[in-house]
Amino acid sequence: MVRYNADVRNSMLESAQRIIVAIIFLALGGIALVGAQSAGFHLSAADGVSPQAFVRAAQGTEIALISGHAGNDSGAVCEDDDGTVTLTEASINSQVADSAAERLQRAGAHVTILNEFDPRLDNLKADVLLSIHADSCIDASGYKAAVHTFSAIPNTDEVLLACIAREYPAATGLPHHPNTVTHNMTEYHAFTTIAPTTPAAILELGFLGGDRATLEGNPDIVAAGVANSILCFLRGDVLTPEPQPDANADTELGGSETP
Ligand SMILES: [Zn+2]
Repeated sequence: MVRYNADVRNSMLESAQRIIVAIIFLALGGIALVGAQSAGFHLSAADGVSPQAFVRAAQGTEIALISGHAGNDSGAVCEDDDGTVTLTEASINSQVADSAAERLQRAGAHVTILNEFDPRLDNLKADVLLSIHADSCIDASGYKAAVHTFSAIPNTDEVLLACIAREYPAATGLPHHPNTVTHNMTEYHAFTTIAPTTPAAILELGFLGGDRATLEGNPDIVAAGVANSILCFLRGDVLTPEPQPDANADTELGGSETP
C-alpha cells in the first residue's frame, strides 16, 4: 500500500514537472517573439505583408489621411472597350487609406481619415497630413509625391518627402515617376486650408493603368509603403537633405560662401 502511494506520488510529480517545463518553454517562446518584434523583426503574414509593430515615436501622434476624391468624385477611372468603368481611383485611395490607418493605429498613432474637401481640413493641426491619390489609367508606371511650394515649414516638409522617397518604393517596388508633378500637386487645395504648422504631402500611389496589378491586387502592400513613409517621418529617420543655414549662422561661417 505504501509502495502504491509512492508510485502514484512519483507519477503525479513527473506530470507536474512536464507541465512546468512546457509552461517555461511557452513563456520563453513568447518573450523571444515579443523581443524579436520590438527589435524590428516581424512575422510574415499570409498576404506577404508583415504585421505592424508598435512604434514608440508614433505613440499618441495625430495623423490625418485624405482618401483622395472621397465624398466628391471618383477621380481617374479605367474603362473596358464598352466604356464600362472597371476601376476607380477613389476606390483604390479608400482601400489604401483604410489599410494604412490600421497599420498606423497598430503602431500607436491616432488616425483620422478625411474626405477630399473635408470641413475638418480647415486649420487642421496634426503631426502629419498625407493626401492619397492615384494617377490616370494609362500605360505608365510609378509614384510621385509633392509638398506645398509656399510651405511655412519647407525643411520639415522636405523630410517628409525624403521619407516617402526612401520607404514607398522600398515597400511597393514601384519606381519614381519623374517630371509629372503638376501645379495641382504643389498647390494642392488642402495645403492652404490646414494650419501652416502641419507637415503635409500629397502622394500619387501609382498609375491605375500600368500599376493596376499592384494597386488593385496588393493594396495592403501599398498601404505598408504609405505607413512606413509616415513612421519614418515621425521617427526622424531621415534628416533634411540640404539644411538651409539661418541668417544668424552666416556670421559663424565667416562669409566663406557666396549666396
Ligand atoms: Zn486624384
